[in-house]
Amino acid sequence: MIFRRFFSGFLCSLLFGLAVFQLECYAAENNFRILLLNSYHPQYQWTADLSDGVKSELLGFIPPENLHIEYMDERRFVSDPDYHQKISQLLEYKYRNFPIDLIISSDDAAFYFLIKNEFNFAQDKPVVFGGVNVLDVNVLQGKTNFTGVLEGMEIKDNINLIQSLQPEVSRVILLADKSELGVRMRQQAIQDIKLVNNLLQIEIWDDFSFDYLLKMAAQMPQDTVFLLLAIHKDNQGRYFSFEHELKKLTEISRVPVYGMWGSVMINQGVIGGMMNNPYQHGSELAKIAKEILNGQAVSSIPIKQKSEFVPTFNYMVLEKFNINKDYLPAGSLIHNQPDGFYRKYSVLINLTLFIVALLSAVVVILSFNINRRKKVEALLSDLNRDLEQRVKARTKELASKNVELESMMQNMKYLANTDVLTELPNRRAGMKRLQKLQQRYSHSRFNLSVAMIDIDYFKNINDCFGHDIGDQVLKQTADVLQDLIRPSDFAIRWGGEEFLLLLPNANTQEAYLICTRIQAGVKKIVMADNSYITLSIGLAEHLASDNTESLLKRADENLYYAKGNGRNRIEAETRS
Ligand code: GH3
Ligand code: MG
Ligand code: MG
Repeated sequence: MIFRRFFSGFLCSLLFGLAVFQLECYAAENNFRILLLNSYHPQYQWTADLSDGVKSELLGFIPPENLHIEYMDERRFVSDPDYHQKISQLLEYKYRNFPIDLIISSDDAAFYFLIKNEFNFAQDKPVVFGGVNVLDVNVLQGKTNFTGVLEGMEIKDNINLIQSLQPEVSRVILLADKSELGVRMRQQAIQDIKLVNNLLQIEIWDDFSFDYLLKMAAQMPQDTVFLLLAIHKDNQGRYFSFEHELKKLTEISRVPVYGMWGSVMINQGVIGGMMNNPYQHGSELAKIAKEILNGQAVSSIPIKQKSEFVPTFNYMVLEKFNINKDYLPAGSLIHNQPDGFYRKYSVLINLTLFIVALLSAVVVILSFNINRRKKVEALLSDLNRDLEQRVKARTKELASKNVELESMMQNMKYLANTDVLTELPNRRAGMKRLQKLQQRYSHSRFNLSVAMIDIDYFKNINDCFGHDIGDQVLKQTADVLQDLIRPSDFAIRWGGEEFLLLLPNANTQEAYLICTRIQAGVKKIVMADNSYITLSIGLAEHLASDNTESLLKRADENLYYAKGNGRNRIEAETRS
């Protein structure tokens, strides 16, 4: 997603960039012709850098072919009127067929060449001048076609800089010469010196041979420094090149040489100073040229009084003179600084650090999430365990409750069907049993007999020996019945002191025998007064036409007869 956005953003800016480029190309269709007239030669670093600044700023504004660059080589032909005349002729000849729309001039010689109308052809053309160190304002009177940027000089700030970097210094020697420019610089310097700390001893040397300068520099006391203004030639007429002579001077000098002409000096052993930047200066001039060619009146563009001077230093020379780099002003440009590991691989290191930071952030976020997930998992598993334990406990509780319930059910079932005193099936259970047997035996050739049994004079037992003894007798009677019937028979407590026997596969005779055995059995239940228990029994054998009621009814009737006939006897249907 992010990549898609990034990609579409990139694509948009690419398309936008192409559109802008196309527009610029379209703007470049204008066919202005610009002449860049340099005071010096192309190998002079200042001139080369300034020209580069102009070229790059004009790129896309006019076709490259429409920028004509000329070099007056004034450093090697200082203040030579014949030479100027020849240049003038050459330029007149050259530019007859190339109408120039605007002239950019660099440095003093070209500026004065134009101002003095030495180049007739350019008389009415707009001129944007740069690199003029000391401007004589009178020369611009009536020259409405001139504007530009003064290069200026920076003596005051340079002296302040020297004092802050080398507080021990008490003497500054400004180096100049007797050329036109040198003289103008000297005059300007005298003005500027008045503005600075007058405790310093400031001298201007402009009349020396190069050999003398080297000799003096080699034995210069430590409280002194040089500040180079401009030297084109020594008092012997010897050309002073920054590449050779300046280098020799800085090599031999016991004290630092400060300067203010940026790239021209910085690599020639000069320690540095408040320096200008020719490339930036050139591009500033080209910008003004564009404004004018785009229609702005020259008179409406004021002359900029000074170009920018930036603290600039040569690291190797700072080291050589043991200058504490902590005292360098903020924003200083430092040349020739050995590449530290970080400086050398800063892009790679920054990218790596960025990626590491990004990955670390991802790792932190992921581990935070993992920790959170682990915590939640632990919480969940605790909850699960707790829940499981609860379910187990509840299941166990339920199981035991079930067992309890089951036993209660069993008990209730038992109680519902059993006589508690005698532990014989009760009347309800007996009735069910009888119904089943009756159904089964109604279609069977086998016999089914029932015997209705009643204890004789039982009321008397209660009355004579108490209810508890009566209960005991009931229990004992039940035991006898249980003992003496066959395994397939049923003894039931029918109610009160009455019992019912269900005797499957027994006809009346067989039932009679069983009942006789029982009568004998109960006689063994002897009371405290030596009396014993007797039973009256009514028998009935199941007939095909019988239902339970009719069968029981006949047995009841026979019991009734047994009572009626004197008790302690068995009555069966056979008698009727
Ligand atoms: P008969 O020979 O005519 O049957 O005389 P009987 O006294 O046995 O008969 P009756 O019907 O007059 O009396 C039955 C007595 O049985 C009355 C009652 O109090 C007693 N009885 C009934 N159930 C129980 C019991 O569970 N325990 C005790 N102790 N007595 C009971
Ligand atoms: Mg009775
Ligand atoms: Mg009775």
